[in-house]
Amino acid sequence: MTQVNQQSYIAGEWVSPTGPTFRAQNPATSELLSTFKNCQSDEVSTATSAAREAFLQFSRIQPEKRSEFLIAIAEEIQALGDDLLTLCNEECGLGLPRLTGERARTVNQINAFSEIVKDSSWVQASIDTAEPQRQPLPKPDLRKMLKPIGPIAVFGASNFPFAFGALGGDTISALAAGNPVVLKGHPAHPTTNELFARAIDNAITKCGMPKGIFSLLQGDEISLSVQLVTDPLIQGVGFTGSLQGGRAIMNAAANRDTPIPVYAEMGSTNPMFFTHKVLQQASDDLANKLAASVCMGSGQFCTSPGIIIIQKHPDFIETLKQGLNNQPRTPMLNKNIGSAFVKGVKRFIGYDDIQWLNKQDDALNEPLMPASVLLKTSAATFLNNEAMQSEIFGPATLLVECDSEQQMLAVANALEGNLTTSIHATEQDQSFINELLPVLEQKAGRIIFNGFPTGVEVCGSQHHGGPYPASSNAASTSVGIDAIHRFAKFVSYQDTPAYLLPKALADENPHKVVRRVNGCFTASPIKQ
Ligand code: NAP
Repeated sequence: MTQVNQQSYIAGEWVSPTGPTFRAQNPATSELLSTFKNCQSDEVSTATSAAREAFLQFSRIQPEKRSEFLIAIAEEIQALGDDLLTLCNEECGLGLPRLTGERARTVNQINAFSEIVKDSSWVQASIDTAEPQRQPLPKPDLRKMLKPIGPIAVFGASNFPFAFGALGGDTISALAAGNPVVLKGHPAHPTTNELFARAIDNAITKCGMPKGIFSLLQGDEISLSVQLVTDPLIQGVGFTGSLQGGRAIMNAAANRDTPIPVYAEMGSTNPMFFTHKVLQQASDDLANKLAASVCMGSGQFCTSPGIIIIQKHPDFIETLKQGLNNQPRTPMLNKNIGSAFVKGVKRFIGYDDIQWLNKQDDALNEPLMPASVLLKTSAATFLNNEAMQSEIFGPATLLVECDSEQQMLAVANALEGNLTTSIHATEQDQSFINELLPVLEQKAGRIIFNGFPTGVEVCGSQHHGGPYPASSNAASTSVGIDAIHRFAKFVSYQDTPAYLLPKALADENPHKVVRRVNGCFTASPIKQ
């Protein structure tokens, strides 16, 4: 078994912090796991200073070398072998099959970033060549591309310990763009954090990278997170987690003397619309598939379907109720998330005009192993109570029953920002969908037709983001290769001598990058 020393990792050194202790809990057995200690204020400063120092060197490393470094990280994750899965499973209880799949996804996304870094295809190169004879003024030579912004603070979520964890999409996209990362490890899986830090430590040594490009600060104190975000050397933040946590980080960043961008991907209710005609055709099938989607991973996905909009359809509701009750109970990630789920359900059932359709007496007795919860309200009530749009993170969903398609449209118009929305419809619903679709385009980053939101394909055309409160910036994605753009800014080089230009902007175009040259996209070199 790989040695774990309950440590943090700061700029190439393994350190044993001296702050207050915290322990993760095995959700399957309730056993408290190893004791870790919070990093202290001076450790935050050491990490950010080292990151700043490393930035100057790391940001200038040739793309090919940075790409090799990313591949080395992926290899070192694989080299952790089954220990990574076993130890992480003790901390999160997600099960070995799920973690095996999540590890593959994490490694694949690292390899995808290594590809776009190697050929600089992500830098959005744009070139307008000079026209010295132009009247009344000569036109300068202007060449623009994306460049890294500086040390990035990253906060991962507990429900994806790999894909949104220490070496997940936020950390890797920031490194891929050429930025050092100071990670605040999630306290629900500190051993997993340490294993990942060991993997990147090996990759740094193997590739001769500057030591300060990665630090892991372990801890569970809010003051540690706030200090990291407000450290003047930090230039941007990647956050995945709850709305409450994300909002706290956004506020802390905005209150700095020099505010910095925060890319926060937060919770979502992923509203699903089922037309009456589609339910007439396939009510049982859709209800059973929906039940499975609501309970997948105990509902602990940011893409879990939390709001279902239908017209009155008792058969669909009955099958959904039975489908949910037939789903096996599976553990919640940790005590905090289990308790938050129970609190969330209790808050909802305290609202006026809400029914709990599948109530079982012991449903909420064990917060770490709750039953699924099916709530129902009328569209009129939903439209009068914004609080019904908040996420209950766990296996719960709210049916919003409408009288007409017009009322379904009214609900769509009232929705807050979401990561996804879904539409189940038939070909005969075309005119209604033509009205619904433009509304939903304003409400979510991804629109799914005749499918379910759980399951996020990692690829270039994925958009995993959405209007607030789903994320802090609807234009950005935290999944897929475009995630790299969050941690970069444009620099325009005017009349710059050829020997100073980055390769991606050179006339020769050695990597054959598709660039916008004088208004046309081309991979050809520029002939002067
Ligand atoms: P969380 O409790 O918000 O934790 C995320 C990180 O934020 C942790 O490092 C946490 O550290 C820190 N944090 C939380 N509250 C804070 C505060 N008030 N001030 C400063 N830092 C704070 O999230 P989680 O429970 O791990 O994850 C579940 C949530 O993540 C769900 O809402 C889910 O929908 C969302 N999620 C979203 C996505 C997406 O892509 N949009 C993906 C996965 C999960 P401490 O615990 O030490 O405070």
